[in-house]
Amino acid sequence: MKIHSINTGFFKLDGGAMFGVVPKSMWQKLNPPDENNMCTWAMRCLLIEKEDKKILIDTGLGDKQDAKFRSHFYPHGDDSLLGSLEKLGLKPEDITDVILTHLHFDHVGGAVRRDSGGDLIPTFPNAVYWSNKEHWDWAMNPNPREKASFLKENFVPLKDWGVLQFIDFNEEGKGELFGLQLKLLYGHTSAMMLIVIEDEKRTLAYCADLIPSIHHLGLAYVMGYDLRPLKTMEERKLFLEEALEKDWYLFFEHDPVNEICQLVKTEKGRITFKNPSLL
Ligand SMILES: [Zn+2]
Repeated sequence: MKIHSINTGFFKLDGGAMFGVVPKSMWQKLNPPDENNMCTWAMRCLLIEKEDKKILIDTGLGDKQDAKFRSHFYPHGDDSLLGSLEKLGLKPEDITDVILTHLHFDHVGGAVRRDSGGDLIPTFPNAVYWSNKEHWDWAMNPNPREKASFLKENFVPLKDWGVLQFIDFNEEGKGELFGLQLKLLYGHTSAMMLIVIEDEKRTLAYCADLIPSIHHLGLAYVMGYDLRPLKTMEERKLFLEEALEKDWYLFFEHDPVNEICQLVKTEKGRITFKNPSLL
């Protein structure tokens, strides 16, 4: 198995929204904001080459948004989803499967693109796109709070084209796909999928928005976007204890600098990062 980090570019989100109840005097040292209080974040996907499969996890923001949308989120940087795949010698047709951790626009926007006639088509023509029934239904009937994050043009075309499939989960919220372990989480949104990937060398957890950056390991560092912050804290605590015990690597989708880290427990019993690096 080969695992590659796929950078799709950066965007900006309000620092206060990203750090929740943590005061600016603390978070501004971790990710310095611009004059509008906006911080820069990555949208980092993962490509797994496993036997005859080429599995992409998440797809970034995509490039079909209008100027108004871009003025809110400032997509920038040299990297793009297809550009980063091309650097690995891969064409869109080569991708066999796309796992969408959840259907917020910064994770699923790249799944669907416009063709030369302006029609919405799957970006990866030969891929099966994987979600789960519970999250799909949640995204299709969004609550007012999440409505601006679930943009139908990013995912409804997948259903229309017949390329969408749902992963099965058991009563404990655990599932498996191609030997990858998946777990449903409910703090950030309903039924987001955490993905744990085990190869010969190490185990890597794709944290999605459970822990968006290395600066969100602290239990109080919960995004203002999260639907159920107390649930996030509970899910994060359990996850961090397991990841520490099993010496997993954590992969961060939104950290602008650090791709992965391992964990260590301080003398005071707090779990924090060690060995932050690139994948
Ligand atoms: Zn996100």
